[in-house]
Amino acid sequence: MSASGGPVAPELVADLAAAARILAARGVVDGFGHVSMRHPGAPDRYLMSRALAPALVVPADIVEYDLNSVPCDPDAPKGFLERFIHGEIYRARPDLNAVVHSHSPSVIPFGLTDTPMQACFHNAAFLARGAPVFNIQDRFGDTDMLVSDGEKGVALADCLGDHDIALMRAHGSVACGPTLQSAVFRAVYTEVNARVQHWTHALANGGPIAALSPEEGRLADQPNQTAGLRAWDLWRREIRKDTGW
Ligand SMILES: [Zn+2]
Repeated sequence: MSASGGPVAPELVADLAAAARILAARGVVDGFGHVSMRHPGAPDRYLMSRALAPALVVPADIVEYDLNSVPCDPDAPKGFLERFIHGEIYRARPDLNAVVHSHSPSVIPFGLTDTPMQACFHNAAFLARGAPVFNIQDRFGDTDMLVSDGEKGVALADCLGDHDIALMRAHGSVACGPTLQSAVFRAVYTEVNARVQHWTHALANGGPIAALSPEEGRLADQPNQTAGLRAWDLWRREIRKDTGW
């Protein structure tokens, strides 16, 4: 068991709890799915709610883990089975400070077919770099599909590579960012983009689609990281209005 990385400002813990509720309100997570953030003062620790439906999370549900996804408090409540997704991505990617794992339904078909997810509009510009598909069967054969130990977490982090998004075959996806706000933004707009892309393919009737080029994606992602994050301010305010925190 590892020592705590130290206290975290209550407003940051509240933001993480609010992020879980925001993702539920935007249809990214339902009874399942989770969001975490790296400990702001200890890069080898991260914070995530106990195993609980995201729409129900309050700040007191937030638990601290080390990168082996072992809780720092021996009396911590039960955690998510798939918390290893988060610990292993933080270990592999020092530049990332927040991770969202979801099973949002519009995204799943892109993990089941050869059709790649493309950036169909500017808010989803981050997708122009591509979204690799993690097929758990490649290394582990037939499984229950869950990333339920460190070895599977490492394999997923390997597949993610230097991307921000990875799809998980017949399961869901992960969306990551340098901040909690950017990871939530990307998780929300990955789901929205998937819906737009389904509509676009239907309209294109088998023809090509004029998605963002990699360079357009790079350029369009810059304002998303600043002005685009006003969406967070709106979403955060809605949660504060409901909860008082
Ligand atoms: Zn899952």
